[in-house]
Amino acid sequence: DRSIHPGFQGPRDGLYFLQCGNSIAGLNRNLRAEQRSLRTTGASNGQSIVGAMSTGTHGSAIDVGAVQDYVVGIHLIVAPDRHVWIERASYPVTTDGFAGLLGAELRRDDELFDAVLVSFGAFGLIHGVMIETDPIFLLEMHRERRPLDARLRAAITTLDFTGAGLPRGDERPRHFDVVANPYDMDAGVYVTTMYRRPFRPDYPRPVHGDLAPGDDALQFVGTVTDALPLLIPTVMTAAVRSQYKTTTTPVQGTTNDIFPTTTTRGKASGCAIAVPLDRALHAMELILAINRDHGPFPCLVALRFVPRTRALLGFTRFERTCIVDVDGTLSNRTRSFYSRIWQSMAASDIPFAMHWGKILGLSAAEVRRLYGGNVDRWLVARRALLPPALRRAFSNRFLEELDLAD
Ligand SMILES: Cc1cc2nc3c(=O)[nH]c(=O)nc-3n(C[C@H](O)[C@H](O)[C@H](O)COP(=O)(O)OP(=O)(O)OC[C@H]3O[C@@H](n4cnc5c(N)ncnc54)[C@H](O)[C@@H]3O)c2cc1C
Repeated sequence: DRSIHPGFQGPRDGLYFLQCGNSIAGLNRNLRAEQRSLRTTGASNGQSIVGAMSTGTHGSAIDVGAVQDYVVGIHLIVAPDRHVWIERASYPVTTDGFAGLLGAELRRDDELFDAVLVSFGAFGLIHGVMIETDPIFLLEMHRERRPLDARLRAAITTLDFTGAGLPRGDERPRHFDVVANPYDMDAGVYVTTMYRRPFRPDYPRPVHGDLAPGDDALQFVGTVTDALPLLIPTVMTAAVRSQYKTTTTPVQGTTNDIFPTTTTRGKASGCAIAVPLDRALHAMELILAINRDHGPFPCLVALRFVPRTRALLGFTRFERTCIVDVDGTLSNRTRSFYSRIWQSMAASDIPFAMHWGKILGLSAAEVRRLYGGNVDRWLVARRALLPPALRRAFSNRFLEELDLAD
């Protein structure tokens, strides 16, 4: 507490300083013992906290954001003899002396902070991060199948759930996502809704089989083979129906109970396209049309939602962002689907961005087109912090191809 800035506006008892390698799943477990909770995570949680932050990992906490959005301090090593502690000038978290305790320079700089948040290692080695957490809470989870009708379409494109017919009426859920199996749309899409509830120790702990309650398509879609393409629709539908269960009674649990998984079953791959909320259904329809015209591809399509990130290169960059996940079997067939999706998105009038930590197809020109002035702001922040030799040291082919290395 002595190291917390007197002007800190956040939860004083909710700050944690974590080394970079802490896994999200481990944090979920350990924070539970401290009666705290991560604000949000992905559906699967084998990532390290800094790995998740650095690519913009998100779940579907519709009013919370992505992992980087609860990071408030960054301990960055840029050379053997130079460390920096970065926080926002507009949101100071630690006292002036805290950085010195780490042997680091103090940098209170919004622009630098927002550049480093999602930067895929380009600014140096992130040794640790300070995060804000919430008091422990329960999620009350429901999953149902329902038609993609006008009411659900309106909810998807506005996140206004009034009259949407969700399990708890008009109450705003904390988490909302939609999964579509292209081969079984007549029976409806899968809608998962989670409501925040106060923690109580005697809640019934969820029991589950191979799939945990909050698992998404990526966790099981790898079990579907595409060796016989004509069988993909049948096999996919059998896999989804048998594994992705609807709920008959609500499941309750902490984030640790709902999202405990750290790996996939089978070999899976994922690509995720972020679009503005009001274009979510257009993007989904574009993807489903490619599947109809050129498939069948062994993939499912899911919609998840978060508010805009402040990270300069965060792909959740629209005021209300819908992330369209296309999860599939790891195969050349799936890769060819992704290529067609990227081409069609680029040729469409839908603004978009792509998840940096999944399979992505972007050129340098496209990064500039999609992120506009944020690319230069990110490069300026990097150049101001790192001299040329260090910029070279923290570059790789990925950054060079996207013109982000200099
Ligand atoms: C099974 C599975 C499920 C997934 N589910 C989701 C999901 O629900 N939502 C979602 O948004 N994404 C999801 N993803 C994508 C995943 O969150 C990202 O790929 C994430 O970046 C992986 O982090 P990592 O720590 O595992 O990997 P790493 O490869 O260790 O880290 C990713 C990148 O972060 C940077 N980095 C890591 N550590 C440091 C450091 N100390 N200093 C500087 N830079 C560093 C590096 O650039 C590195 O390449 C999923 C991926 C898998 C495999």
